[in-house]
Amino acid sequence: MIIKRQRLLEIISEEISMINEQISEKDCSRRAKEDARQAQFLSYPMELMVDEDDACYDAYEEEFQALFPEAFETLQEEESQYSILQTVASWENPQPYFRNASNIDKLHPSAQQKFRAFFNALVDAGISLQVNSTHRYPSHQFRLRYVDETDPTAEPCRSDHQYGYAADINIKYWKVNPDDPDAAPVVVRGTKRGPGSEKEVWAPVAAIAAEMGILWGGDWEGAYYDPIHFYTRSVATSQKRQCEEFYEERIEDPDTGAPAALDLPEDWGDIEGWEPVSDAEDENKSEIDRILGVA
Ligand SMILES: [Zn+2]
Repeated sequence: MIIKRQRLLEIISEEISMINEQISEKDCSRRAKEDARQAQFLSYPMELMVDEDDACYDAYEEEFQALFPEAFETLQEEESQYSILQTVASWENPQPYFRNASNIDKLHPSAQQKFRAFFNALVDAGISLQVNSTHRYPSHQFRLRYVDETDPTAEPCRSDHQYGYAADINIKYWKVNPDDPDAAPVVVRGTKRGPGSEKEVWAPVAAIAAEMGILWGGDWEGAYYDPIHFYTRSVATSQKRQCEEFYEERIEDPDTGAPAALDLPEDWGDIEGWEPVSDAEDENKSEIDRILGVA
């Protein structure tokens, strides 16, 4: 008898809570509809959205998504980008370093302002950075590719570094483990090779770059993948060709003395090949600066 009464009470209480839920669902839906209607008159309708922990959140989401599909999509994107930056433990790095900032001065004037804003945004997010390379003359590019054999490196005159539109950086920040947010953040270094070259390490930097209209070498596929490389534009092939012609008119194959192509020298991949390129540049500095657009 007692058991039966207990069961009856349970059934009654279950029904009461179901009725309550239905009432609150109706109530939420009514509130959401009213607010959505009101939002049609606002310039930024999402201001009327409720917090994620509000009991009516689902009703609001449904109502607003139906009424403002485009604004809703933008909002979702902002949220996902924010979640990437959440992995940067900025409190562990209260004074991020910003080394070699003066290298920015060597970039093309149109790229300088964009890169300064980008690097300042990294520092604001708690990410330290070092600007390793910005503008490089073709002789420098030649040395990287054929003498130092750094791989992958573009041929001389073919890299956006030559024209002052690209910068290579290394980064350092403390990272929260998204699977275990209570664990102590660990320091990560963003590099070109090794574990620091992984996309996850660079993700917060890439997100900020994308937001600011800066392009990323980490989006290149396969052997071209270059996470340290950021650029504002790619130079036209005709300008690259002009640069190549400048050198090809002035350099000779060190073995035969015949005019040489700038991009041939598998066989003169040593310092002997680099010197004519460098000399041609030194002797006609103003002309090559004009061709590169960095004068
Ligand atoms: Zn680069």
